[in-house]
This record gives sequence, structure tokens and C-alpha cells, in this order.
Amino acid sequence: MRAVVVEGPHRITTTTVDDPTPGPRDVVIAVAGAGICGTDLHVIDGDLEGTIYPIVPGHEFAGTVAEVGSAVTEFAVGDRVAVDPNLFCGECHYCKIGRGNLCERYNALGVIADAGAAAEYCTAPAGNCYLLPEPVSLDHAPLIEPLSCAVHGFDLLPGRIGERYLVYGAGTMGLMMAQLARFAGAAEVSVVDINTERLPVAAALGADRVAASADELDRPEGWEVVIDCTGAVPAIEDGLTRVRKGGTFQVFGVAPEAAAASFSPFRVYKDEIHIVGSMAVLHSFGRAVDLMAKRVIDPDVMISHRFGLDEYAAAVDLFRQGTGRKLQIQPGK
Ligand SMILES: [Zn+2]
Ligand SMILES: [Zn+2]
Repeated sequence: MRAVVVEGPHRITTTTVDDPTPGPRDVVIAVAGAGICGTDLHVIDGDLEGTIYPIVPGHEFAGTVAEVGSAVTEFAVGDRVAVDPNLFCGECHYCKIGRGNLCERYNALGVIADAGAAAEYCTAPAGNCYLLPEPVSLDHAPLIEPLSCAVHGFDLLPGRIGERYLVYGAGTMGLMMAQLARFAGAAEVSVVDINTERLPVAAALGADRVAASADELDRPEGWEVVIDCTGAVPAIEDGLTRVRKGGTFQVFGVAPEAAAASFSPFRVYKDEIHIVGSMAVLHSFGRAVDLMAKRVIDPDVMISHRFGLDEYAAAVDLFRQGTGRKLQIQPGK
């Protein structure tokens, strides 16, 4: 089959590799689409702890079941599925206390170990596959994985209706968080991004107010919930100052591992600010499937570009420039 292979840091090719063979409890999926995200850049650049090369990237994907292992009864050839790429060991301390996303042997298809979905076919454990309900198209379904990360983020927020949200970053994740905030009953959702070209889309997707900086939003008392979806230290430092007394700041965007940000511990103490991280997916994939079916996010706006397998390197270059929203690889294209 044809597949994108990252041979090592900064070395990407599209080449022919062996077709996958399923283990007894595996499903082989003919990939319809695989989204590109910041994590793929870390895999390509070699700055992620644990990635084993060579690796086929691609962890946000969906497709059609092409083959099932000998012990799989719950899926059949032709089923349309989305795949939770996260692989938890089930044996470590964190898995045993129900926090598999903090697994000591955390693994994810296309991120840590071979093989991901930037290929014609991809193998996944049956337990990680989710049947797509009728309203969700294969074109849209690769958005379920990032949406499941956003749903996990919301699981860690206070979840009170009628509060004001401020989201940093109008890229794919910021736009998803803003749409979820609306759906979750926010009184008002504001989105800031220094790349002002992205702001009209945020407004079109339902953000009440958009701006290049929170200063323009003139809300000196601050916001009950502030979510950083940029991973950029200046945004994180600014965002922390915008949290209302008793409010919550979420670190959702992925900052570089060595980055450091400063904040006022006195203010966190005195104003009882909650600071909470959110990492990947936990018990949230099935709910993301249902939210996609309900069109809580607008998939047509969220996917801005589609590329064939041979165009993977060009797609990555475009993504690095901050162009568009979700870029998707479609092996059949
Ligand atoms: Zn991703
Ligand atoms: Zn574990």
C-alpha cells in the first residue's frame, strides 16, 4: 500500500510499504481521511518524547473496515468507523485509577509507535473503533478525534451554564472549544487571535466577540473561564491575568516542553484561580461521535483543505504557515 513515512526527524516520504495484517482483535481500516495537527509536526520534527522511527503519522482518522481479525465479531467489512488512536496499557497506576491518558506507557497510533493513518490502510484494536452514525460523513469524521480532546477539556472545566468564556487562538482547537462553550450554555464566548485573518471565521461560528487582544474586549473584571488553545507563552501569560476571581484557566494548547511562563502566585491564592491542564482523550470519544452527529461543530467550516498522500509534505508546509483550519489527507484523492 501507499503510505507517508517519517523516516526520522524532518525526513518525510510517500512510499510503498507492506499491507497491514490484523491481529486477532484488530480491524484494518481503509482510510478515508486523516487530519493533520500540531502533534504531527512534533512527530515530523522529532521533538516528541518517545516517538519510534520510522513511523507512519496520522492519528485523527476515519474510514471503512476492510478486514477484521479472527476474534472480532462487533465489526464487519464495510462498516464506517472513526478511531480513537490512544492506546493505554491498562496495567499501570494511572490506568488502574481510570486516568489512562496519563498512562506510564502512553502510546498512540501514528504518534509514538507505528502505524498511523496517513496511508491507504491502518490497523487499530477493535476496542478503539467507533461505528459512525448515519449523519456523520467519512469526510467529516476525522474531526471526531480532535473534538474528543476538546470534550475532555470540557470535562475538566467547572461546567456551569451562564458564564463567560475567553478562548485564545482561532485555529481548529480554539474554534472547537468556542463552539462547545456555546453548546454548553455559555453566557458569552469571546475569541482572541493575533492572526486577525482568523477572526471572521470565529465570529461566523458563533463567537459573540472577537479581537486581536483581550484589551479590546474591555472586561476589567475578567472571564469566568479562560482557555488557551495556542500553547504560546505570551498568550498563556496574558490569559492568566484575564481570569475573573474564582475562575478557571485551562492550558489546552501544547506549549514547547522547555517553555516557561510566569504568573502571580499571590493572585492565584487571593482570587482562588484554578489552573487546569487537559491532555488528549479520556472517556470522551463516544461523546464526540454523538456531538458530531448533532452538528455541535460545523464540519464544513472546520475542514479547509484536502490533499492526496503524495501531497503530504506540501500540506505540512501549508499547516506550518498557519493557513486554513483543519487540513486533511485523503488517500483516495
Ligand atoms: Zn491531533
Ligand atoms: Zn497505563
